[in-house]
Formats: sequence, structure tokens, C-alpha cells
Amino acid sequence: MTDSRPLSVALVGAGPAGIYAADILSKSGLEVSIDLFERLPAPFGLVRYGVAPDHPRIKQIVVALYKILQRGDIRLVGNVEVGKDVSLDELQKHYDAVILSTGSDRDAPLDLPGVDLDGCYGGADFVSWYDGHPDVPRTWPLDAEQVAVIGAGNVALDVARMLTKHVEDLMPTEIPENVAEGLRSNRVTDVHLFGRRGPAQAKFTPLELRELGQVPDVDVLVYDEDFQFDEGSEEAIRASNQTKQVVKTLIDWTLKDKDELTASRRIHLHFLHRPAEIVGDGRVEALRTERTELTGDGNARGTGEFVDTPVQAVYRAVGYFSSPIPGVPFDEIRGVIPNIEGRVLGEDGEWMSGLYATGWVKRGPVGLIGSTKSDARQTIGHLVEDAEAGRLQARADRADEIGHDAMLAALEANGVRYTTWQGWELLDAFEQQLGSEFNGGTTRERIKVVDRDTMTAISRG
Ligand code: FAD
Repeated sequence: MTDSRPLSVALVGAGPAGIYAADILSKSGLEVSIDLFERLPAPFGLVRYGVAPDHPRIKQIVVALYKILQRGDIRLVGNVEVGKDVSLDELQKHYDAVILSTGSDRDAPLDLPGVDLDGCYGGADFVSWYDGHPDVPRTWPLDAEQVAVIGAGNVALDVARMLTKHVEDLMPTEIPENVAEGLRSNRVTDVHLFGRRGPAQAKFTPLELRELGQVPDVDVLVYDEDFQFDEGSEEAIRASNQTKQVVKTLIDWTLKDKDELTASRRIHLHFLHRPAEIVGDGRVEALRTERTELTGDGNARGTGEFVDTPVQAVYRAVGYFSSPIPGVPFDEIRGVIPNIEGRVLGEDGEWMSGLYATGWVKRGPVGLIGSTKSDARQTIGHLVEDAEAGRLQARADRADEIGHDAMLAALEANGVRYTTWQGWELLDAFEQQLGSEFNGGTTRERIKVVDRDTMTAISRG
């Protein structure tokens, strides 16, 4: 806290990391005024625009995040992109501290021959489409019958499941109208998911994997020759109950009677296949993989045996990656903001006074929503220490240029059409109303609005 006014703090990004950090800061004992900037007119980050629509239990986390923002002591400033609508420099004039919680929004790069062929897609782009992100195209090509998904984690499972699930089974969810329409023309019959190492090295979580076996009219196939376990695998199974459960589910599937496989769509889980090349002449025609074998410590090496799986589309689901924010240092290799326990480091390796990071942009795109909370605790712990030691101060010369009112006046002067928490409540109610008016024979809690201008217009009344 400064001598005469509360500490003024801006958070950038209203995903779980930003909201949890704001909540922890508000309860830290400091006298503090908190603004939460978000580039979209809707808060909640990847909970709204990453978590799959058929995971309503996870989407319920929104209720907890909603309650935090509904209190009113943390002010949401939506539809404002930091680095575009307002610079970091300007934020630092208005606030004593700035916390970056901008998450991850795109596919990690994959260096693979053929990756630029037509029909090769980023998993994150597909996720953004089916979750109705306002900044992506409204149509998605779903003309491939055979599809490959590269990756052996939960996002790969989401992509495979959303590609095979029949649209009727998604109608009770919040999927936007354009997504339902797109999925109606989906021609897929077979999705092949490829992991480089063995079943014990897959990064699936047990619940999400088991769920794959319960999708109506979709069979899951696994192949006996992919079940290799080395010393490293045995160790992994002993060390982690999660790995043990994943391996058990996969082994159970090997025992399935082939006569039971009668579904019209199939997901094939392949292990010990290293993607070597996406083959095609202008368009994807096949995925070439090299068979691998485990080396004893859970790693894999190529065997020199190559297999071509004929597919017309390839989805890369090898991880997310953060985007740089102008004026903020960025580690291009790891895709994070360089920091020590949340204190952002400048090019000289020193802490950039008053600047912090939290969430996926701080530690990389791994971990579930819950881990953003412990992460936020660490970052806020350091911010509180720095505030108490008198190390925080906005760069503005005059007190009336600092904080919420001055910032909003500056945004208005620059013609930025920002939205507020009250605006989100209007949009939220509108989406729920759309859901309740749906007359397709299904009860729907909400239908998402996807067009940014429409979202903004509804939010601004
Ligand atoms: P994000 O959620 O990405 O939030 C960052 C926010 O910052 C966004 O709202 C973004 O719009 C905003 N932003 C970015 N740049 C700017 C800028 N320049 N100015 C202003 N605002 C900006 N976890 C689970 O626990 N269960 C699941 O089932 C699950 N499913 C997932 C499925 C997918 C496909 C993905 C990708 C992730 C999933 N996760 C799941 C993980 C979970 O989404 C993350 O742990 C969590 O969202 C990370 O939170 P974050 O706040 O760091 O980032």
C-alpha cells in the first residue's frame, strides 16, 4: 500500500489463473484496488474456450469463478487486449503492479515434413472452433473420412472424441449453432491417434480415457503389438496410480471381443509410432509413422520400420503455446514469460519491478485448472512481500492518473469499447435465454454467442 491510497493492481487475462490470483490478492490483507483486463468480452479463458462442451462437470468450475467476480471488489474490464488496445507501458503508469495471466492460446509448433499440406490442422484451432471462440472462422472442414491425431494427451483425446461424437449427442451441450451445423456434415468414420512411446507413457488422465469407451456408436480399438512395457514403464506404473489406471483401461480394451465392434465410427489408439512425415501432393493423403521400441527407461527409439496410414486430415495435438505480449520479455523456446516464482525477469536477468506472471504463461501449458490456484498463491506471495517492502509504485507522476477511473477514461479517450462485469451478466443471461428457447427437443442450459461484435453489443447494453 502507498501512503495515501490503496495499492492499485492490474491483472491481464481473466482465465482461472487471473481470477484465482485476483481472489487471493483481495484476501491478502493489503488494502488493494484490483482491475482484471480481458481481451474477450467473456471471462473464464480456457474453461470457456478450451474445456470440451461435453465436459459439463469441468465447465462447472465457471460457477466458482463467477462467484469470485460477482462480489464486485475485482473489476472486470473486458474486450481490451493488452499490447493492442492499451500498452504495457500505459498500464504500468496507472497501476503499482501488473500481473500477466494471459495463458496459452495456440498450438505448439511441430517440425514435421508435410505439416503445411492442406488438411493438416492445429488441435487448438479445432478446439477454438468447436468452443465458439470469437476470433476464429465460423466454419470447419469436416470432409475427411479417415483422420490422424498426433499426440497422446487429453487434448488429443478431446479432439478424437469431438471428431467422432455424433452431433445429436452434443445437442444438450452449449455448442454454438454454427458448430452444430458444421458437425452435421461430418463424414468421419475412423480417427487414428498416435503416441510416440508406449501405453505407460501416455499422458491421458484415467477419467478422460475411460470416457472414450462410453461414447455412443463409437468403438475404441487398440492393438496388441503396441503393448510394450520396459523397466521404465513398470517404474511409472508403480509410481503413479493414474498411470496404473490408464494402462489397465487400455489392457481391458485389448481383451474386447472383435464381434462387439459394431459402431459406425471408430477411434484407433496406436502406441510406439513416431510421426515421420505427412504424405501428400498438395493435400494430406497419409500419415507416415516409424515404429518405435522402448529403450528400457521409458524412452523410445526408431526401428526403421515405416507405416503409412491413409488419412485425409491430420490434427496436431502436441501441446499449447503462449503468445508474446508487446513490451514483455518472452522465451520463444519454452513459450513462457521468463520469471522466478512469478517475478518477471528482464533481458538483463533482473526482476522488472512491479511485473509478475501467473498460470500457464508463467510455467507453461501443463496442469489442470486446480494447479493455477497454487501457482497464483506463489506469485501473490511475492507481490505482497514486494508491496510491504515498498518496492511497488506506479510510474505516473500524479495520483489522479493512477487506477481504475483514470484507466477507463484513457480507454474511452482512445475509443476502446470495453465491457464490464455487468456486461458479462447481460451476455450470460442472453446465452441462457437462447438455450431455454431452443426447440430441438433437448433442454439446453445455454447456447454460446460467438460473434465478437454481437457479444460486445449485448454486453454494452
Ligand atoms: P487461460 O485459461 O488461457 O486464460 C488466459 C486468459 O487471458 C484468456 O481469457 C485470454 O483471452 C486472456 N488474454 C490472453 N492474452 C491477453 C491480452 N494480451 N490481453 C488481455 N487478455 C488476454 N483443465 C481441467 O482441469 N480440466 C479439463 O477438462 C481441461 N480441459 C482442457 C482442454 C483443453 C483443450 C485445454 C487447452 C486445456 C484444458 N484444461 C483443463 C486446462 C485448463 O484450461 C488450464 O489449466 C487453465 O485454463 C489455464 O489457465 P490460465 O488462466 O493460465 O490460462
